[in-house]
Amino acid sequence: MIVEDEPKISALLSDYLQARGGYATEILDRGDTVLDHIRSKPPDLVLLDLMLPGLDGIEVCKLIRRESQVPIIMVTARVEEIDRLLGLELGADDYICKPFSPSEVVARVKAVLRRGGGAGEVTVSGLEIDESKHIARYGGRALTLTPVEFSLLKALAGQEGRVFSRDQLMNEMYSDYRVVSDRAVDTHIKNLRRKLDEASDGREMIESVYGLGYRFRS
Ligand code: CA
Repeated sequence: MIVEDEPKISALLSDYLQARGGYATEILDRGDTVLDHIRSKPPDLVLLDLMLPGLDGIEVCKLIRRESQVPIIMVTARVEEIDRLLGLELGADDYICKPFSPSEVVARVKAVLRRGGGAGEVTVSGLEIDESKHIARYGGRALTLTPVEFSLLKALAGQEGRVFSRDQLMNEMYSDYRVVSDRAVDTHIKNLRRKLDEASDGREMIESVYGLGYRFRS
């Protein structure tokens, strides 16, 4: 969801997010309509301009956070403003300063979505992952996963078809970037696969890509 009152900017962002990121976009040009839209059709992420007619970005951000953990990236026209925004502890996930390059915005959107934001629900071919509740289900049945297995599954299933190297998966496994061996990644993947196979009658959702790593396929 793009909340921006300057039509040129919202159109540019929308084009880039669709073309470079493959995202579907919705544009709102006022602050006071945001909450209704989020309630009726929850977006995966909100790009929120600071200065908006109706209700400014700060108030909108506060209202959203009262009821939703949807990832929010705030967009401001002044770099000095970012310190003040950080001080307000609005609960936004990232801040971008105008003028920005559209490709930078796409990169930030991807990064915030990859971090899992807050809402973090993935549903793909019978598999449901609910980040906030830390639950993964297949066909409605809960899977018993360790925290590391859960993180791996979330990363892989969250970007279906993408090949993850072992290094990339290591970064998903632990937030503190501790160094683990390739073998440790393989072991966790092996255990995760076994559990998925048992739950799905051997659908083999996690595929090895020789010499590269692993990918999720439906
Ligand atoms: Ca504005």
